[in-house]
Amino acid sequence: MKAAVVRAFGEPLVIEERPDPEPGPGQVRVRVEASGLCHTDIHAANGDWPVKPSPPFVPGHEGVGLVEALGDGVTHLAVGQRVAVPWLGKACGRCEHCLSGWETLCEQQINTGYGCDGGYAEKMLAWADFAQPVPEGISPLDAAPLTCAGVTTYKALKVAEVRPSQLVAISGVGGLGHLALQYAKIAGATVAAIDVTDDKLELAAELGADIVIDARKEDPGEVLKSHGGAHAAIALAVNEDAFSAVYKGLRRGGKLVLVAMPAHGTIPVPIFETVLNGISVIGSIVGTRQDLAEVFDLHAAGRTRVIRESRPLASVNESIDDVLHGRIQARIVFDFGEGS
Ligand code: NAD
Ligand code: ZN
Ligand code: ZN
Repeated sequence: MKAAVVRAFGEPLVIEERPDPEPGPGQVRVRVEASGLCHTDIHAANGDWPVKPSPPFVPGHEGVGLVEALGDGVTHLAVGQRVAVPWLGKACGRCEHCLSGWETLCEQQINTGYGCDGGYAEKMLAWADFAQPVPEGISPLDAAPLTCAGVTTYKALKVAEVRPSQLVAISGVGGLGHLALQYAKIAGATVAAIDVTDDKLELAAELGADIVIDARKEDPGEVLKSHGGAHAAIALAVNEDAFSAVYKGLRRGGKLVLVAMPAHGTIPVPIFETVLNGISVIGSIVGTRQDLAEVFDLHAAGRTRVIRESRPLASVNESIDDVLHGRIQARIVFDFGEGS
């Protein structure tokens, strides 16, 4: 089987021929149909973060495909069933986080495409308990971006406790942001979308953003303040300054939800304003299996649109370059030929 492999940080990925992986106990082997390119995969390939993967590794945590082999003890999945393999490859199921509905915080978790090989491959392994069944009617090419971009932003809006009367700022209308915007609309909020490319700003308007802010020309904080200030801002742009920009646009009691993770990122949080204005700054990491099930249900019900372009895995390096230069619509999905 073919896989795109990170052999060294900051180097182009290499397409390699590898033997099919054999599922161990509790695992399944998935024949990948579609696999999304999340910006996290670029951070992984560059070794951007303090906790790093160990090359060589196969990135990708938006892999969707058909189960083709069952490891020992797997009884609830069947060969031929379509599953998605998210970032949360495995969690312990026993710790306080797992037991309290926060499996995404489990300290024993293994992350797909980071701590084990991921979805940039024709075949991949998944822990059966964390391989999410994809409902009938969702194409693999749509399911892929929902598997990280969808669940992460759906969760971020839950964490922000968004209500219909509220103004929500979506900072960055990329793979994550174009879905965040739709979930904020579904929650009934008034949505301000912020980006720095014409295409993304147009996309935001098309997806129903009530206020569109071009951060190249306007100060997002000022614009948000002119609308009374945001109740919540979801920070999805891979740019440190974008975090401070929306922080300044929060109203009293507002929440800044940190989701994007620019390399070596920090944000200055002014203590006086944060205390006086009762501001919350919250980190949000992906979502649980239940969150992903809800994301799939919403999509199956026709309530979200996945904006994506499909490409062959062989285009992986130019695709990464295109994401970094804003030359894509919203999400690139590698199509393994048997997708929708
Ligand atoms: P992306 O590249 O598709 O989207 C980023 C968007 O931000 C682009 O549309 C870009 O034009 C826009 N942008 C850039 N500079 C901006 C600025 N100054 N102001 C406003 N917008 C700006 O990336 P993505 O796949 O959506 O991922 C975004 C980030 O989220 C990455 O850092 C990724 O690692 C992270 N991420 C976090 C989680 C999590 O669980 N916390 C999950 C997935 C991804
Ligand atoms: Zn991701
Ligand atoms: Zn745990």
